[in-house]
Amino acid sequence: MACLIVGCAHLSGVDDAIRQHALHGFGTTAAGLPKRTEIVASQLVIHADFPLPGQHRLVRELEALRVDVSQTLGLPISDEPVNLYLFETPARYEEFVVRQFPSFPARRAFFVETDTTLSVYAAWQDRVAEDLRHETTHGYLHAVVPVIPLWLDEGIAEFFELPKLEAGLHRAHIAHLAGRRLEGTWWPDLARLEALESAADLSQDHYAEAWCWTHWLLCTTPERRAALQDYLTDLRRDSATAPLSQRLRHAPGLGGDAAAEVVKHLEELAVRTGAH
Ligand SMILES: [Zn+2]
Repeated sequence: MACLIVGCAHLSGVDDAIRQHALHGFGTTAAGLPKRTEIVASQLVIHADFPLPGQHRLVRELEALRVDVSQTLGLPISDEPVNLYLFETPARYEEFVVRQFPSFPARRAFFVETDTTLSVYAAWQDRVAEDLRHETTHGYLHAVVPVIPLWLDEGIAEFFELPKLEAGLHRAHIAHLAGRRLEGTWWPDLARLEALESAADLSQDHYAEAWCWTHWLLCTTPERRAALQDYLTDLRRDSATAPLSQRLRHAPGLGGDAAAEVVKHLEELAVRTGAH
């Protein structure tokens, strides 16, 4: 069974040993999975080991996120279930992760895709809303685009992890990249991001840059948003389709020097959010 663990910003990394363990060990036992409460909310099947009301605000928010992701990215909606396993305490969650993934790095939540399942695991703690928005976005996305470049997978999840009112404006990433620009230690390079293949190789710079390209594509001009939507549509049909960096280079009206345009966009956002 093929298995993919998608790394996230709050992870310290996933190595091949973990991937192999997941490949062979995961799915053979459901020991310790939450099962006290089960809620079906559209595409989501939520399993919790504590009483969770079906009308909980977060449940409704995650349900609404499905349409938001689909409309923003120009993707169809899938009915493939996304399982959310919610543990009442970080201790319960960690106990499960240690048993299922003995060499797993400490992290608050994660998403696992196999040939047959899409699953999110998370603990109910202070930042659970952000974590679930992020991981559930991976679930919705993978249900319709099973193979997606790592940078874009994370850029999109970072975009949607924010409360809806923030409209994808990730202040922490803006401040981080603006700081790098002041130091003179960062310049965007989409081809460099595209070369990343392992979540273990993703640094804070990479997550922030992946978010920044995604925000620039989705929130600046209709042509750029269409370029991202077209790319995702093509990825659904052919995972080996030409990478986005090549498309941006050759498509007229998308900004010419895309990296310079991304820097300009970041500087405007830094001013707007007070990061400068
Ligand atoms: Zn992620």
